Amino acid sequence: MPSKDELDLITRANHYAIDYLKTVDERPAFPDHSKIDALSAFDTPFPEVPSSPDRVLKLLNDFGTPATVTSNGPNYFGFVLGGVLPAAAAADRLVSAWDQCSFSKTGSPTIAAIEKVAGHWLLDVLDLPRESAVGFGTSATACGLTCLATARRFLLEQSGWDIAKKGTFGAPRIRVIVPKTVHVTIYKILKILGFGSDDIIMAPTDAHGRVIVSKIPKLDNKTILCLQAGEVNTGEFDPFAEIIPRAKAAGAWVHVDGAFGLWARASRAKKHLTDGIDLADSWTTDGHKWLNTPYDSAVAICRHPELLSTTLSANASYASADHDAQQNLTLEFSRRGRGVAIWAALHSLGRTGVNTIVDQYCSHATRLAQGCSEIGINVQNRVVLNQVLCKLETPEKTQQFVKSVQDSGKVWFGGTVWNDEPAFRLSVSSWRTQEKHIKACLTEMKRHL
Ligand SMILES: *Cc1c(COP(=O)(O)O)cnc(C)c1O
Repeated sequence: MPSKDELDLITRANHYAIDYLKTVDERPAFPDHSKIDALSAFDTPFPEVPSSPDRVLKLLNDFGTPATVTSNGPNYFGFVLGGVLPAAAAADRLVSAWDQCSFSKTGSPTIAAIEKVAGHWLLDVLDLPRESAVGFGTSATACGLTCLATARRFLLEQSGWDIAKKGTFGAPRIRVIVPKTVHVTIYKILKILGFGSDDIIMAPTDAHGRVIVSKIPKLDNKTILCLQAGEVNTGEFDPFAEIIPRAKAAGAWVHVDGAFGLWARASRAKKHLTDGIDLADSWTTDGHKWLNTPYDSAVAICRHPELLSTTLSANASYASADHDAQQNLTLEFSRRGRGVAIWAALHSLGRTGVNTIVDQYCSHATRLAQGCSEIGINVQNRVVLNQVLCKLETPEKTQQFVKSVQDSGKVWFGGTVWNDEPAFRLSVSSWRTQEKHIKACLTEMKRHL
């Protein structure tokens, strides 16, 4: 039996967490400077001697808690981030208590069984090829890395280059075509994989941030084409049905970054935005954005399971596992059972619940855009999804406005750049954000104009 001290400590952590949760509706969306300055309490030399765990925890609560960004609250509209669903948060607590090393059935039969089901449910709710492999990784970045590494391996092998034997140095050249508006993390992935700027071709995009089909460079069997479901400023979708069949016919690999936008597929009203997306080879999406799971939660989906698992296989002599074990589908070997929170979120919502949150975010965004126009803010996008992209009359006014709202702490959203000018972006991405929060956000914005 663990000691009373250990149990008391966990109880105290739970109390701190519950006290925090009770305040998320009222907390400042962003902490004020004094709370941030007080974080210097953590800036101490490495302790020579042990400290009581109680003291360690108290320090976190006393100085960490006040300086948190309340992205788990209803007034946060930054970066496509939202609060955490109760079922997902609770499941994640239990996962911490279990402390499973979830690389395979050997590491954790429980996690392996639950993640397998979560994978099937994801393919069902997102209506993607049911034979696909699903890897539960830490982020859309990590999952995109696994998908694009698989793409490169496949294309090189198709052109007769034995990558397993010869590696990538001196290999035939693989080109990557990306929309001009591609998310910065795709560049990060390509950089890590050894692609240089000469290997990356930016395809021109239209006023909505979507690739222009007629301007996509010639596709062939040494090309990876990255498309987007949910452009990060406008929330728009590339015209998959027009492009993907052509790309496939030319022998290219098509990857779709759907970090948040892939969830449109779970809504009857929005699914049409993703028509043809299921013809791609690989997809990534986040749990920690639209699905409101805790962070470090994303998925890599690959319609060719054996290609993903061959690229990522990590079968040690002491821990060999099936091709569909997570150790062979993700970057991690020792890993948290992060798919459990996705399973819990999906279970608690059900098909109708997922549909509802997608529609709710979209209708709130539409309302927000209407309200912005009414108070004289220039909305720049059509608001097909949950992103509202805005500008004021001049770049200076836009920048001052964003800073003024951010400093208020009442609501928070971020600046961005659109058509080479400062803009700002409101993203409705939290199940906690209700109609009244949209109204309050508009009232607050009006005060700063
Ligand atoms: C957030 C985001 C990413 C990166 O996702 P992470 O989980 O933060 O790595 C990639 N693409 C788009 C469109 C995004 O919105």
